[in-house]
Amino acid sequence: FNFTYKPLRNADGQVYAILHAAMDVTKQVQLQQQKDEFLGIASHELKTPVTSIKAYTQVLERMIRNDGDEKKAAMVHKMDLQLNRLTGLIGDLLDVTKIQSGKMTFNPINFDFDLAVIEIVEEMQHISAKHHINMHLNSNAIAYADKERIGQVITNFIANAIKYSSDANSIDVSSYARDNEIVLSVQDYGIGISKELQHLVFDQFYRVSGNLQHTYPGLGLGLYISAEIVKSEGGRIWVESEEGKGSTFYFSLKINPIEL
Ligand code: ADP
Repeated sequence: FNFTYKPLRNADGQVYAILHAAMDVTKQVQLQQQKDEFLGIASHELKTPVTSIKAYTQVLERMIRNDGDEKKAAMVHKMDLQLNRLTGLIGDLLDVTKIQSGKMTFNPINFDFDLAVIEIVEEMQHISAKHHINMHLNSNAIAYADKERIGQVITNFIANAIKYSSDANSIDVSSYARDNEIVLSVQDYGIGISKELQHLVFDQFYRVSGNLQHTYPGLGLGLYISAEIVKSEGGRIWVESEEGKGSTFYFSLKINPIEL
């Protein structure tokens, strides 16, 4: 049961009665569990055929390219890119169910932080020919964390920076080390987020509303998953932004204190 109490006051502000309500939440909890379970099964079931379609698409593209038909190969390549988006969305849904059931696993390793960022930036640079991703990497540190998961956070920051700055053409990715912490930031010069809404962007399914929702597709899960990953790794995540000017997303990780 969920209990709520509300004092009722007269014109002088004196309490003359207390309103007491009890609500049975068993049903709500059950529904939530069923929803989580369904999300888990649905995303898992979607993953298998999509993975298979992707494999065939890649083989098909190569076969067509070998035959010398560039036009058809380019079309199949577009299908492959859309499949990447679909795989990403399904992956996000799977991650949410893992977070909610406490089953997200982390395999920490020691890795060169700046080098890992370079690898991701080089990959992300292919996504947008318009934006140039500048790197200012000065952490010179070894991180001890799940490299794949941290990579996922950096990828998400950069993908958002590209998505929400279609009128700009540069993005700055920076890293530094301070007080036993590595800090990574991704700055864009796009639409920005108003001060009142900044604290909400890390919430599950939250998307800054308005007509922008149709312009920029998404499920509102990327930053929620990123925040869960960073917090699980013992770090912090935050944003600084000005509407119309752009945003800078940050996360920190503890530097491995162990001498290697
Ligand atoms: P999605 O991009 O799929 O909506 P996210 O969880 O990645 O989901 O982001 C949540 C919301 O935060 C977005 O819908 C958008 O409103 C806002 N947001 C995230 N990154 C940026 C950015 N770089 N610039 C402006 N708004 C952003």
